[in-house]
Amino acid sequence: MDWADELAASVSGPQVVNDSKTPSGTVHVGSLRGPVILDVITRALRARGLETTLLYGIDDMDPMDAQALLTPDAVDHEMGRPLAHVPDQADDGHASYARHHAQVFIDLFAGLGIHPDRYYWMSDIYPTGEMDGFIRTALDRAADVREIYRRVAHVQHPDDWHPIQVVCPNCGKIGTTIVTKWDGERVFFECRERLVTWARGCGTSGWISPFGGNGKLGWNLEWAAQWSLFGVTIEPCGKDLSTAGGSRDRADAIAREIFGREPPLNVAYEFLNIGGKKMSTSKGRGAAAHEIADVVPPEQLRFLFIRPRPNQVIEFEPEGTDAIPRLFDEFDKFAAATAGKEVRGEIAPGHAATFGYSLLDPAANVAADAAAFRPAFSHLALLAQIPNVDVRARVEAEKGGELSTREDAILGERVTAARAWLEAYAPERAVVAVRDELPTDAVGALEDDQRRYLGALADAALSADALPESGEAWQNLIFSIAGEVGLPNGRAFAALYAAFLGRTNGPRAGWLLASLDPTFVADRLRAAAPPPMAA
Ligand SMILES: [Zn+2]
Repeated sequence: MDWADELAASVSGPQVVNDSKTPSGTVHVGSLRGPVILDVITRALRARGLETTLLYGIDDMDPMDAQALLTPDAVDHEMGRPLAHVPDQADDGHASYARHHAQVFIDLFAGLGIHPDRYYWMSDIYPTGEMDGFIRTALDRAADVREIYRRVAHVQHPDDWHPIQVVCPNCGKIGTTIVTKWDGERVFFECRERLVTWARGCGTSGWISPFGGNGKLGWNLEWAAQWSLFGVTIEPCGKDLSTAGGSRDRADAIAREIFGREPPLNVAYEFLNIGGKKMSTSKGRGAAAHEIADVVPPEQLRFLFIRPRPNQVIEFEPEGTDAIPRLFDEFDKFAAATAGKEVRGEIAPGHAATFGYSLLDPAANVAADAAAFRPAFSHLALLAQIPNVDVRARVEAEKGGELSTREDAILGERVTAARAWLEAYAPERAVVAVRDELPTDAVGALEDDQRRYLGALADAALSADALPESGEAWQNLIFSIAGEVGLPNGRAFAALYAAFLGRTNGPRAGWLLASLDPTFVADRLRAAAPPPMAA
């Protein structure tokens, strides 16, 4: 079992899995960890036969507070208004700023195989009156809510503070209003000019009904009310919200003490860190989800998020490193182990479940899919750089047979990913330019034993029944000949890089040679070897 199966085994009865998000702007790739966890939990529950509903909320009554994403002339008017009421700044056909930005992550979710049973929009929910009961309770018990904030979060609100904000009937802002009185049907609000630094209120005040969409609960209360409204039983939550006295603790206490319901099971999950280095440097790439998703296909992205337990931090540094090729290799190792093949090194218990949950299709035949032929990412990254290579033919030769439809799709996806990786993130050493002519300077700088090694490798390759074709076969030959002639592996690789690339480093040598025409390889090895001694 992996962690999701363990969780599913610990609960019983029908389940409602929920999360929600403020559609405020660019989606960082790390923010996809939560939705993937949500989806995997849902799949694990369903696999155990538990009736499960997956919900995802759009908190679009939250105020607009990100000036940078507004056109300059819109700032004064729009800052502080509910996101659902701010016009779409991109002006590409969405009903609001919120709809535009929510669509970005809804599309990302769909691309990752995450299909909630329902997306609910708070701007739709409030006008229906479904939240009115919770608003009334929260206002009736405002003193108890203030006491929870004092006790749980050490936040002391003034005695006239009420846990709701209304949309100012004059200027339409919600971030600038406070409610100071409640008479059982109406609240007294003030739209204060300087309530917050990032938006300016208009100074209007008066009595207004808080119901039917006129107002919204404060965030922690809205969260707890969603749990009651939808009967939520499981809600994973980021570590930043799960700290002692933080948002989750407050919402939990409000659920129990104000709305009289046990809060859902929390699965606190850690961050994904994009290295210590600043992203988006030389190649202009960033950590925006769509940018990473352009390079890392959905199944590998799911795998990245769910392989560690949720409480483990994920360090991911794609720029200028092998992090993406390593991710593919690790994925392929999980696939191979799931298919019952021998794999090098250790493999996590529950690997078959993790592999299955990485697949886009929840109904996929996991064992059959695991057995599909998956060409090594680094090999494809090499082939992509060699002119006039029939990649498909090479991969079929490596497999030793024709590719199935699924294998063909995997190949196509990986070739696209490899090209995108080379363009966006690959380190210099992964970029190869095989020299048309023998790089005499580099070869001349080699020691004699290195050059003799190249000759021995050529002999061994030619003496075999057939020249090696696969990266694996070349790699094995490279190691075994180095062993036979007593040359350390590092110096053997350096000799190969010198002979083919004219430099001292390069990608995995076996796959480099396998990507080239075998006769060309043999000729080049010969040319780089010292001339045979005269008899
Ligand atoms: Zn106002």
